[in-house]
Order: sequence, then structure tokens, then C-alpha cells
Amino acid sequence: MESLKRTKIKALLQMEPGVEVLAKGWVRTKRGNKQVKFIALNDGSTINNIQIVANTELFDEELIKRITTGASLAVKGDLVESQGSGQAVEIQAKEIEVLGECDPMRFPLQKKDTTLEFLRSVAHMRLRTNTFGAVLRIRNAMAFAIHKFFNEKGFVYLHTPLITESDAEGAGDMFQVTTMDLKNIPLDKKGNVDFSKDFFGKKTSLTVSGQLEGELGATAVGEIYTFGPTFRAENSNTPRHLAEFWMIEPEMAFYDINDNMALAEEFVKYLVQYALDNCMDDLQFLNDKYDDGLIERMRSVLGIAFQKVTYTEAVEILEKAIADGVKFEYPVHWGTDFQSEHERYLVEKHFQKPVILIDFPKDIKAFYMKQNPDGRTVRGMDVLFPKIGEIIGGSEREADLEKLETRIDELGMSRKNLEWYIDTRRYGSVPHSGFGLGFERLLLFVTGMANIRDVIPFPRTPKNAEF
Ligand code: ATP
Ligand code: MN
Repeated sequence: MESLKRTKIKALLQMEPGVEVLAKGWVRTKRGNKQVKFIALNDGSTINNIQIVANTELFDEELIKRITTGASLAVKGDLVESQGSGQAVEIQAKEIEVLGECDPMRFPLQKKDTTLEFLRSVAHMRLRTNTFGAVLRIRNAMAFAIHKFFNEKGFVYLHTPLITESDAEGAGDMFQVTTMDLKNIPLDKKGNVDFSKDFFGKKTSLTVSGQLEGELGATAVGEIYTFGPTFRAENSNTPRHLAEFWMIEPEMAFYDINDNMALAEEFVKYLVQYALDNCMDDLQFLNDKYDDGLIERMRSVLGIAFQKVTYTEAVEILEKAIADGVKFEYPVHWGTDFQSEHERYLVEKHFQKPVILIDFPKDIKAFYMKQNPDGRTVRGMDVLFPKIGEIIGGSEREADLEKLETRIDELGMSRKNLEWYIDTRRYGSVPHSGFGLGFERLLLFVTGMANIRDVIPFPRTPKNAEF
């Protein structure tokens, strides 16, 4: 059998009949009668299975019995025009080898329970399902498209550290990194933890954002992006938050907030278009199975300009909605951060298109955002999407040394730990901007999945780091 080269099922399904082929994969289903068995084989290269037709006269009864859902096979046979509907070609099997058996009594992916919730409890095996195959292929396509987009624009892919001593950004609670013996923590004279004895000689954590280092890169080579894991110890059990997620953070010298908004809009539209152009089989599957509005929703964000609204205008819209009888769980007034329900009202009900919110109260945003002349708002921007809410958060950065230092002091933060960052404003400071796209938030949008735990292979959430 091995003299023949294996062909992936995606390619087999596009080939002309009349050739001998070798396919390998996992059995999805087996059905049929005494004379003939139909085996649906999948190798992960596509959502579609190839049908194997096995004439039982040609094979041992024992062998046929070992072909169960989940088992892995190598099949040699002739690629022929399919008799049945649903596929153009099938394989008329001549030789079958069971590579790995799969005990039907113990295999967790039996037909019985295929709810996403159940699958999360067998996340090590759920990758074998059609659903997770589709999600993983779309995830891969999006990662590739992200690199392609920035590469074509001449951005430099910058690798920012995952272990950091800066805890100043305030983007989220951090996971500490230490090699200290937790049962015997060294203390200093005052009784505080003596981090000078720790591995790095200081207190360190996992990064919540690569932005601050990203700004160092942008103010050196012009335009950079990061794309890597990000960690936030936020104890919020929502369908939109993970403790470990991936973020894409472009940072651009000489961009103001308008350039920043234009790039963010072009970027997400490019990614959605790329998914439509390259992942249609998987999208159609997810659309049919989980979210019959998926493809339409994806198309709906492409043709139109995103709506730009100031935070202050948005508050007025929401207050008017409340006066008109719309009910929200959380209150709205000038100075508070919007909840996902408010964001979704603006996108789905009021404007019925993606929204870019700008000019936020400075007290709900990070210290580095550029201050507006009004003294109370900053040049932040959040991109809001249907079904998701916030998908991107960004801003023009404060480029003025004095204003930045004053803000750091106002917030009671330590300048000492940030001297390296502040140096960007001391030596050749330039206007610059950037944003962060949550990779899994994007994937929620382009897969139609409702829970962020279902768009990352191995989710990390409070009380869950299994697999
Ligand atoms: P949110 O208000 O939705 O919690 P945030 O304002 O804390 O988000 P930013 O600090 O602006 O988020 O981070 C940039 C982007 O990273 C967000 O727009 C979102 O897409 C994504 N993101 C933030 N926190 C998480 C998380 N815990 N899990 C997954 N993605 C996240
Ligand atoms: Mn944000």
C-alpha cells in the first residue's frame, strides 16, 4: 500500500475519477448492509468527508468490525464517480488497513451528546469533531491573513516579551511569575516579600499587552505589529473573556487617531473578506449548524463605512433609549464604561452597522492616551461589532512628555518603572497610534460561535486549565 503516495481528502474531492489513490483519515460514520459498507472518512484537510465503498466480499469480517467511528484507516482504492448524491467522487476500496482502533464503548465523541458544553469537558478530543475542525481551519486562515495584511503594508512583526516587570498599564489583573518557594517566601527587613531573591531579581508577571514595548518598536522602525499570547487574571466568567488569549497590536509612528481608525476598519474588513474568500465550506457548515445569520452578518460589515460616534454622543443615544423604554441591566451615565449590552444596542439597534467610539472620559481609559484640548476626554477608540461588542480597543498616544508625566503622577503611578517607556517622549517623540484586536473576539465574529471558549483549542478560564 505504501508504494502509493497518500493524497489528502481535500485534494481527492477535487480530482477527476479513474485513478488509484491512497487516503488516510479517521472514520466519521459507517453504515450500509451485508454486501456493502459506506465509510465516511475525514482527515482534517476539509470539512467534507470522502466516502469509502467497501464490498464486504473483499474483506475479512473481523476487519470490517474494527472499522468504527473514530478509528483511523489507510484505504487504497479506485477513485470513481459517486453513485450517491452529495459527492462527486468516492473510493472503491481495494485494501483497507486499520491504523488505530477506537473502542466505541469508551470513545467520548459518540453521537449521543454533542453539545458544545459537553465538548468542552473533552476538549482534548473535541478537536476531532467537524465543528472544531472548521474552527481550527478558520483560525489558521485568519492568523495567516493577519500576517499577510501587515506584511503587504511593510509592517515589522515585533516580538514583545511575555514576562514583564511593568504592571503599570492597568489593562487587567496580572498573573505573577516566580520561582520562589511559596512555602518559604523570603522577606525583607520590613516583612515584605523580597523580590530581589526571585529569579529576575524583581517582581514579574505575564504580560497583559505588548503595547508599551510596541511603541518602542514603532518609534524605531515606523510601523510594527505584535501577534502573541496575552494573559489577564480577570475573574470574569463571560462568553467573551479568556485568561489566556491572543492579541494583535499594531503600533504606528506618524498616525493620528483618524489614520488609526482607517487602518482598524481596513484591517477587519480585510480579514472578514479573506474568510469569505477562503473558508466558505467551513463557514457554510457553521452557518447551517449554529448561526444561520453568520455569512450574511459577515457580508453586512463589508460594504459600508463604520459609524464614528463620540462617547458623549453615545451616552445621549443610550439615555434617550432608556427614556423610550429600553431596558439595560447596567446604568448609563457620562463617566462610566459601557457594558457589552450598551455596545450591542448601539451597533445592532441604533446604527445597524459597526461603530467606532471615540473621545472617552479620561478616567476610564489608560494613562497613555492622547488628551483632548477639552481637558476631560482622551483620543481612545473602540471598534464595536454586532453580536460581540468591543472587538478592538486603541488610541492615539500622548506624545507630549510633560502631559504624559503629569498624567502618570495624577494617577499615582510610579514613574520609576516606566522610565524606559517615557524615553520615547524624551528622544525624538512623534505622534503615534495603535490598537489591539482580540484574536478570539475576531474569531467569534467569523465563526458565529457564541462562546469564546469554543474558538481557542485549549481555553484557559477561572478554575480551568485542563488539557
Ligand atoms: P473588554 O472591555 O471587552 O473587557 P478591554 O477594554 O479590557 O476589553 P483592551 O484592553 O482594550 O480590552 O484589549 C484590546 C482587545 O483585546 C479588546 O478589544 C478585546 O478584543 C480583547 N480582549 C480584552 N480582554 C480580553 C479577554 N479577557 N479575553 C479575550 N479577548 C480580550
Ligand atoms: Mn478596551
